[in-house]
Amino acid sequence: MKERCFQEFFKKSPIAYSCHRAIFDNEGIPYDYEYLLLNEAFEDLLKIQGTDLINKTFYQVFPEGWEGEEQWKELLQNAVVNYTSTQFDIHRESIQKWIRVLVFPLCREIIGCIYHDVTTEYALNKETQKLEMELFRNNRSLLELTKKLEQKNKMLNDLAIKDELTGLYNRHFLDQWIEKEMSRADRDHQPLSMIIFDLDHFKRVNDIWGHPVGDEVLKETANLANSLICDPDFLVRLGGEEFVIIMPGSSIQRALAVAETIRQTLEKYKYPIIGHLTASFGVAERMELESYYSWYKRSDKAMYRAKEGGRNRVYRSEDQDRLLNAPVNIKWKAEWESGNHMIDEQHRELVESANSLLYLFLAESEKGKIMPAVDKVLDRIIKHFHDEEQILVETGYPDYEKHAEIHKTLLDKVFQFKKSYQAGDLKLSELFSFIVNDLIIGHIQNADTEFFPYTQTKALELNNASY
Ligand code: GH3
Ligand code: MG
Ligand code: MG
Repeated sequence: MKERCFQEFFKKSPIAYSCHRAIFDNEGIPYDYEYLLLNEAFEDLLKIQGTDLINKTFYQVFPEGWEGEEQWKELLQNAVVNYTSTQFDIHRESIQKWIRVLVFPLCREIIGCIYHDVTTEYALNKETQKLEMELFRNNRSLLELTKKLEQKNKMLNDLAIKDELTGLYNRHFLDQWIEKEMSRADRDHQPLSMIIFDLDHFKRVNDIWGHPVGDEVLKETANLANSLICDPDFLVRLGGEEFVIIMPGSSIQRALAVAETIRQTLEKYKYPIIGHLTASFGVAERMELESYYSWYKRSDKAMYRAKEGGRNRVYRSEDQDRLLNAPVNIKWKAEWESGNHMIDEQHRELVESANSLLYLFLAESEKGKIMPAVDKVLDRIIKHFHDEEQILVETGYPDYEKHAEIHKTLLDKVFQFKKSYQAGDLKLSELFSFIVNDLIIGHIQNADTEFFPYTQTKALELNNASY
């Protein structure tokens, strides 16, 4: 009964089975396998008639060999000789299926096999692999696109900030970048110098040899100048045959020396086709807080004086000596806020007046315009000192008298300076320097800040009372 049950179980089981006996050669090594048993599920799965196989060996059924023959033989042999189970997947072309076979030893030369259809699993894996491949490809093309976009952006950026002919940075870049360099110089109290140079009679080169030769000369000049400067100095083509070198950390002395080296090198250099050519140089060191415009103008003016002076020479800005290091384009600072509305407003106006005076000076205005401007500023200062003293009394500033005394001393001194200037005993730069540096900025920065704690507290009290 049990035996029958077992036979039926084996026959009807939905899992495909087969049972084989190994056939050995003379040396005891199995080389072929006989089909002993197989069930209906096996016939269904492998599309084989059981009766065609039973009691036959593999070589009898498949005299030409069978799919995956080597692998089969190795694993079956492993089960028979080593008594171990092994699993492997095999693709059967004839039925278009992936089959997973578990081979296991039963007893001595008998082995059992269990078969599973894993075609779907393979299909899924394949689909996943396909998707992964596609994803990989998409990612790669996205990366390539991003790289191309970055390259395009860099090209666009370069076009905007670089000069096409020489590859140097252009005026547009300089305008963007220079403010940062100036702030850094102000913050670190470091010198910052500029050399402007312009080729002499360059128009003749174009006229005689033609524009393309002129272009080559410009390129050659850019390379030559570039080879004579070093980090952090850098060369910019301002336009035409005009170049500028910005020299962070360099004083006027070093800038003059570099300009002279370039001038001499250019003078000696023999350009292909055209031969010799010279350039004129203007050099200026930026003054603390000086605007780019003013600094550039001074360098440019020096360069034009070099042209007028006979070309092929280096000139420094004369304003450098005349201005006595007065700041140009003074910017209002937060630390100058006293808290009192009227004082702050008047202080701002005075700072503006100081800037206008400096501008007048730099623009080398006619003498007739200078004195009325000075008088206007002095009137403003007198009124301001008067208003400020009244506010200090109201605030209860204890050192009021001392502060009023400072005002008086400053005014006495400025009128003395003015007289000396009118008598020709004092340079205009000295008068201006006193008004700007001592009377306006120096006074706000030093003496006025002493009373700021009082005016600021008063402003806070008033503010609280109004709530
Ligand atoms: P100066 O000594 O007074 O500077 O005389 P110059 O002839 O050098 O000056 P000018 O400003 O009269 O002439 C400059 C010439 O530079 C005129 C212009 O055609 C030429 N130029 C400007 N840009 C380029 C360029 O990119 N390529 C070429 N080949 N010539 C240029
Ligand atoms: Mg020119
Ligand atoms: Mg020129």
